[in-house]
Amino acid sequence: MNWPPKYDPAYVPNPDAEHWDARLETMDPAERDEVILDKLQGQVRYAWENSGFYREFWQDAPVDPANLRSLEEFARLPILTKEEVRVEQEANPPYGRFLCIPPDRVYRIHGTSGTTGRPTVFGISRGDWDRIGEAHARILWAAGVRPGGTVMVAAVFSLYVGSWGALVGAERLGATCFPFGAGAPGQTERAVEWAEMVRPAALYATPSYALYLAETAREMGVDPRTDFGFRLMFFSGEPGASVPATRQAIEDAFGCYVVDQGSMAEMTPWMTNGGCRHLQRGMHLWQDIVYTQLVDPETREPVEMGGEGVPVYTHLERESQPMIRYWSGDIARWEMVDCPCGRTYPTLTQGIYGRADDMLIIRGQNVFPSRIEDVLRGLHEFGGEFRLVVERERGYLDRLTVQTEVSDSIWASAGEAGPGGLNALRDQFRDTLRRALGVGVSVELKPEGEFERTQFKARRVIDLRQ
Ligand SMILES: [Zn+2]
Repeated sequence: MNWPPKYDPAYVPNPDAEHWDARLETMDPAERDEVILDKLQGQVRYAWENSGFYREFWQDAPVDPANLRSLEEFARLPILTKEEVRVEQEANPPYGRFLCIPPDRVYRIHGTSGTTGRPTVFGISRGDWDRIGEAHARILWAAGVRPGGTVMVAAVFSLYVGSWGALVGAERLGATCFPFGAGAPGQTERAVEWAEMVRPAALYATPSYALYLAETAREMGVDPRTDFGFRLMFFSGEPGASVPATRQAIEDAFGCYVVDQGSMAEMTPWMTNGGCRHLQRGMHLWQDIVYTQLVDPETREPVEMGGEGVPVYTHLERESQPMIRYWSGDIARWEMVDCPCGRTYPTLTQGIYGRADDMLIIRGQNVFPSRIEDVLRGLHEFGGEFRLVVERERGYLDRLTVQTEVSDSIWASAGEAGPGGLNALRDQFRDTLRRALGVGVSVELKPEGEFERTQFKARRVIDLRQ
């Protein structure tokens, strides 16, 4: 077989076409399994032959990595965790024995920031970089980006591969690329000025950043709906784009539609979890580029369609540093949906709505921060930001306090009503949250602007449990 696949760098579909590759995207799922197995056999055999790590990691595997006969056999290979990647890279810096090419053939080095431990390093070959561009172009096409449309990337250009992934896809597609960046002091004000001047069709950022951009624009007397002209926004890095109220808030603020995307930096092309322009919520799994299985968080056994589990990802066309059966630690639910786009991929219907280890267990009830965000953004009294404080009560019970901002006008009128006014408002927040979460929480009200607005992934959980 021909592995890794080669793509024609000059190919672009007709602008009216719904699909970049109609055959692959709309084929019968059983037929697609054969395409996946074919690529998987190439990928796994290649890693077995070229990576010292996988040679050792699969030594006692119950199946032969050089001759996989079925997807079921593949599912019997061990799951790889972030911790195992860290340990291996520490022992064999910088890439670990994952690297299947000579180090001088590494074309790009990216990685995680390492804010929570040793950073993870990704070495990417030129061929892989081109295939990442190809995959992202195909998925951005589904999102509704077309040649000549301007794509503004308002995210940090650094080790963080998200921004670069968005850029290389937009380049390959033939869009007009506008790599604006983010993170420098005053840059959001400049983003408002530039977006008003350039009027891009599409924005890539995080959902938090988009809301912050809208807020900053209004403060500057700019109407994000009429003065920018964004037609669509595609996001990664946070669950917000599949959180209904957050999605609605962004669509209302800009008069655009929102597309959710993103698996993990390690799995770049990370857009292979990616919605289309028709999908109201969630992400299709582009299974013939990165193969995704959902497994039970405890037993690690496969989860049927319709169930909830942890996505485990596998590269299918990565020659430099392939990740094979990589444990995401995220929580999602998958289903076959009848999307108007006609794609026959499984869909993460609610996007990625939690981390297996972010899930808060409050009085025996599972609580995801994204659910609280959804409830708060659905309240018109909400002031735009919040924090969750978790404390241990009486040694064993966990207590959750939701600190929520209240919008300026509501805060003022509640204040005028005397001390009872704010108390009544607090009780209203508390009751709404209790009904939605099925568990009692404490609520503290804060004036609008109390919490820092983020330009990157929002960190909203403050865990005081020891
Ligand atoms: Zn679709």
